Amino acid sequence: MKVIAYSTKTYDRPYLKKAAGERHEILFTETRLTLETTSLANGYDAVSLFTSDDASDLVLKKLAECGVKYIALRSAGHDHVDLKSATKLQIRVSNVPEYSPNSIAEHAVAMLMAVNRKIVQSQLLMQLQDFRLDNLTGFDIHGKVVGIVGTGKIGMAFARIMTGFDAIVLASDPVTNPEAEAEGIKYLPFTELVQKSDIISIHCPLNDSTKNMFSKTQFSQMRTGSILINTSRGRIVNTPDLIEAIEKGILGAACLDVYDNEKGLFFEDHRNTVLSDPAFARLRSFKNVMITGHQAFLTHEALSGIAGTTIHNLDLWEQGLTSPNQLNLLADDRSASMEDQKATVRI
Ligand code: NAD
Repeated sequence: MKVIAYSTKTYDRPYLKKAAGERHEILFTETRLTLETTSLANGYDAVSLFTSDDASDLVLKKLAECGVKYIALRSAGHDHVDLKSATKLQIRVSNVPEYSPNSIAEHAVAMLMAVNRKIVQSQLLMQLQDFRLDNLTGFDIHGKVVGIVGTGKIGMAFARIMTGFDAIVLASDPVTNPEAEAEGIKYLPFTELVQKSDIISIHCPLNDSTKNMFSKTQFSQMRTGSILINTSRGRIVNTPDLIEAIEKGILGAACLDVYDNEKGLFFEDHRNTVLSDPAFARLRSFKNVMITGHQAFLTHEALSGIAGTTIHNLDLWEQGLTSPNQLNLLADDRSASMEDQKATVRI
């Protein structure tokens, strides 16, 4: 299959090349997919996209005009793709529903521990030869109440680590996970979880019901000094309200791997740019806000899993089969049998 892989970087290309072998002709580009860059896909059967790409209605129409029939996402989240429009345009879309949920959960824990135990400040003080411990006090996770919003794959991985710390783990999810209950995690309505937690970690997808799920009302209900961790999607948290909650001292700290205006910002080199986003500048100015640029997935295991499943999805389509990871079913889709799936190479 002729594939153009948008938004690929030096760190993910080797994994994709290894997974594809000689089976597909892939053009790798750092360019993001936007309305202006659709013409690069002219003559390609498939495009491969990351979360930074824009696959909204107009962009999809342009891709269809270019002859694109398949979109292989290199992410679990698909809030950046208009699936209804893709279906209308007869473009099949697949995602990577699972790739090392531990990579994201462990990054969330790393951020939590770093802000709580002031690791970044102490490293800076060490370099200044200032060995005083003033202002570096944290708290034990042991015995604290940790609220998990979304007990899917990543939420459960995070919950298990917190259980290992001997925290009291609460959860909120419209779908109760029996595994979670068996492991002693207690489900509560969302508002109650917000009120009772010392630490809240967000692990639900972005959709109409989760957009701005953390806004003024929720911040006013949170325990003073609590920590909010968001490794899911920026728009789940209302940024101006988050800033206000930090300024008012409601939040003790925030750990953000995602940001609502991250498109075109994260994953790029902006060293010579004057950034024109006052909210992002304000967030970066807080000592108790740790921000990483959507890097929670960045482990060897996750990159290898993403590449393996992305190429597997393309392999199945090339054989006229329906990928089990296809997000939109078209009229003539035929499910891949177990035998068909085994015949394709998975890394
Ligand atoms: P998953 O589908 O396994 O789990 C999501 C869970 O959220 C499900 O149990 C679902 O029922 C629950 N949910 C849905 N709506 C909810 C609501 N209103 N309140 C509470 N829970 C709700 O997904 P996952 O693999 O665990 O991934 C979770 C999210 O993590 C993804 O949607 C994506 O946005 C994000 N993610 C981020 C990175 C990163 O690098 N930062 C990488 C991968 C995924």
